Amino acid sequence: MLNIVLFGPPGAGKGTQSEKLIVHYQLIHLSTGDILRAEIAAGTELGKNAKDIMDKGLLVPDDVVIGMIENKIKSNPDAKGFIFDGFPRTVAQAEALDKMCSANGIEVHCMLALVVEDEELYKRILERGKTSGRSDDQNPELIKQRIEEYNKKTKPVADYYASQNKYYAINGMADINTVFQEITSVLSNLQKR
Ligand code: ADP
Repeated sequence: MLNIVLFGPPGAGKGTQSEKLIVHYQLIHLSTGDILRAEIAAGTELGKNAKDIMDKGLLVPDDVVIGMIENKIKSNPDAKGFIFDGFPRTVAQAEALDKMCSANGIEVHCMLALVVEDEELYKRILERGKTSGRSDDQNPELIKQRIEEYNKKTKPVADYYASQNKYYAINGMADINTVFQEITSVLSNLQKR
């Protein structure tokens, strides 16, 4: 099994690299952002509550996203592995993920952190906003707020995995294929161990 936490600020390229990783390693992609947007589109109560928070550039409560991930892990007992994308985003979520994993007899093998400069993030998100239809991608103030929220609450999650010797930094400023090559080379070294 191969369970990866794909980490990085908004706009770092997690979605793009996830698409390539699922094809290459036949993993199940669990993106809390995608799951939340599906709830919004379906008009559920959870989606309505989440939308207000997401439109402020803030994080939705830990128990909401933890519950979503737990359901997905439980409903895929035969998975070859999971890519956690946009989760965990707080240290409390990381601790909950460890607990869920041990309860289901699995473990997180590594955190792959896409490192990208803030200025490049703004550019990419605004560009994505032209086609993504995501309201949180179209407002510069909101983008700034999301990056601030990341720096304040999410960055410490990297230290959590570093302390377990599971942290790998990837240069996310390179082109898409180069980033993917760097990721596969980290993963193949890991699998040789
Ligand atoms: P991006 O990484 O580009 O910001 P995502 O699709 O991952 O986009 O997330 C969009 C929004 O969904 C976030 O700004 C946040 O409000 C909410 N969200 C997604 N994942 C989480 C999470 N694990 N914990 C709390 N909020 C989350």
